[in-house]
Amino acid sequence: GTGPANPGRRRRLGVMGGTFDPIHNGHLVAAQEAATQFNLDEVVFVPTGQPWQKSHRHVSPAEDRYLMTVIATAENPQFSVSRIDIDRGGPTYTTDTLRELCALNPDTDLFFITGADALSQILTWRDTDELFSLAHFVGVTRPGHTLADPGLPAGGVSLVEVPALAISSTDCRARVAKGDPVWYLVPDGVVRYIDKRELYRGE
Ligand code: ATP
Ligand code: MG
Repeated sequence: GTGPANPGRRRRLGVMGGTFDPIHNGHLVAAQEAATQFNLDEVVFVPTGQPWQKSHRHVSPAEDRYLMTVIATAENPQFSVSRIDIDRGGPTYTTDTLRELCALNPDTDLFFITGADALSQILTWRDTDELFSLAHFVGVTRPGHTLADPGLPAGGVSLVEVPALAISSTDCRARVAKGDPVWYLVPDGVVRYIDKRELYRGE
């Protein structure tokens, strides 16, 4: 390439963390809408390692969650997927994710995109002071959850209204387990991948 069109401008990178077990259209719409409203150059999806807050349930292998995320985002030139949390191993802490992304992306402002449910959990996360120095937080609306600033540092978080999709990975897994379709809830390639790998059948 010929370099950035606007050399003085810092790159704006959205970060969408999640278990993505499986990735669904709610994730994709949230990322797209945050990218539009915050004028982001790119959104990187970061599937978690073995998630500590979900250790009470079986989580699909990281490689399956990674591949579904790649399949779901491959066609969008603004979307990419990072393996950093999977390759680090162990439970994922968002401070580690953001620290690593900062180091990998100089001259870039990070925007951590999170649904209303996850935003309300933020203060239970580790190292919250450092979190807000590493990224701007973008809380997106999610049906069934109240979007509210959970007492974060002033200016550290923006709340964004996104088209309401009442879809969750939990519901997608339950549907597959029952033999119900997940067409149009997840991208077509993800439906086929779930079927091919026989994910969620026995849950
Ligand atoms: P699970 O039911 O297994 O918790 P999930 O649907 O909540 O899955 P996650 O991978 O836990 O998906 O979520 C990743 C991020 O996407 C979180 O910040 C979450 O709040 C957000 N998110 C998930 N679904 C939606 C949705 N339908 N609308 C807006 N944001 C969403
Ligand atoms: Mg969740």
